[in-house]
Amino acid sequence: MRRKLATGNWKMNGSLAGLDMLADVATAMGSDSAEAVICPPSAYLMPAVTAAQGTSVGIGAQDCHTESKGAFTGDISAPMIKDIGATYVIVGHSERREAHAESDADVARKAQAAWAADLTAIICIGESEADRSAGTTLDVIAKQLAGSLPDGCTGDNTVVAYEPIWAIGTGKIPTLDQIIEVHDFIRAELAKRFGSDVTDALRLLYGGSVKPDNAADIFKVENVDGALIGGASLKAADFVPILKAL
Ligand code: PGA
Repeated sequence: MRRKLATGNWKMNGSLAGLDMLADVATAMGSDSAEAVICPPSAYLMPAVTAAQGTSVGIGAQDCHTESKGAFTGDISAPMIKDIGATYVIVGHSERREAHAESDADVARKAQAAWAADLTAIICIGESEADRSAGTTLDVIAKQLAGSLPDGCTGDNTVVAYEPIWAIGTGKIPTLDQIIEVHDFIRAELAKRFGSDVTDALRLLYGGSVKPDNAADIFKVENVDGALIGGASLKAADFVPILKAL
């Protein structure tokens, strides 16, 4: 049984005062068997951990460096994220792949850095609009999976997030058939490489324009174990109904 997971990716949004929503999220979760994780900007990681203390809400970072320390101005490392009490880190988000020229190999190294620090890596993959129109979506996904997931993936150390780039922040959403096709494909690819025991335990999230009004349908898809949510994770009024739909 895979535990359903809703992860909020605040990107470069939110504020100290905005962390108040964590209390609403915690109340909404109650003793629910699903899991909620919020990934605020690094400036708010520590206060987020404090705000979530004693609740079932997890806190994650949005990125980590491949190295544990050193002369890397502006970066934060996986051991630092662990040190302050966060438990997850997103790696390979398409915005970082694009704006910071991160390759699949970089993403794999970041996932390994996360594991070494005992963090769970949320590894993001997804095709562009051009890939989708060219009919190469599954090839792109296969290549990203092969390159971005290191050997040694388990259901505990890794979550895979499928985020079609053209659906992120656009309000455009793939059809349920398209989501089913890609998620089934990802599960099958993972099973080929890691075996069915590991794959059965590994959670696959869908991300890209998940909102309160489309979450329930997406969560009904067999190989969707939750979502990575951007815009709709900033306010409890949007995020809580998505959690309820889990
Ligand atoms: P969105 O972002 O929900 O605002 O589309 C998702 C993401 O980039 O993780």
